[in-house]
Amino acid sequence: MINIVFMGPPGAGKGTQAKFICNEYKIPQISTGEILRNAMNEGTELGEKAKEFVESGKLVPDEIVIGIVKERIQKSDCERGFLLDGFPRTLKQAQELDNILSELNKILHVVINIDVSEKELVERLLRRAKIEGRSDDTEEVIRARMKTYFEQTYPLIEYYKEKKLLRNIDGLGSVEEITSRIKEALKNV
Ligand code: AMP
Repeated sequence: MINIVFMGPPGAGKGTQAKFICNEYKIPQISTGEILRNAMNEGTELGEKAKEFVESGKLVPDEIVIGIVKERIQKSDCERGFLLDGFPRTLKQAQELDNILSELNKILHVVINIDVSEKELVERLLRRAKIEGRSDDTEEVIRARMKTYFEQTYPLIEYYKEKKLLRNIDGLGSVEEITSRIKEALKNV
């Protein structure tokens, strides 16, 4: 049983690495970004609410994403653990996650922070934009997402460092190299 949070700036490779790790540990990947994108594609009420924020590189309001995670984490497939990919992104979300987990008698075991320089990130995101065609992968929105990250999410590194949950992973290298660094870090949890 392992409950993991994946952190890192946009373009650090969180999603890709999360998929490998979830496969390995047989736990669900809970990506708030993916849930929001699906809702937007399906045109649901949630999707309608999220659209303006996602498409301008801003964070969707805390109450919305906290509600999504609270509901998702209680599903039976999370009994053997879960990996949160892209949540929490604000201090409020992190505090609420602590509350939700304690209500459910669960704990967070580890926070993996994938570390990559800002210059490398923008280049990677622009490359990904060409391949995936995500509507929030234009240069302007990428810069906005980066700003949002450094202003609102970066402070969480300190929050989890103080709780002694943080493991920093060097995010430069091949996908395989980074996966094996993460696996190594998870062995000692
Ligand atoms: P991602 O796929 O994780 O890069 O997320 C894409 C976009 O979804 C972000 O730029 C935000 O607009 C929104 N989003 C995803 N996760 C969160 C979150 N935890 N809090 C607020 N907004 C989020």
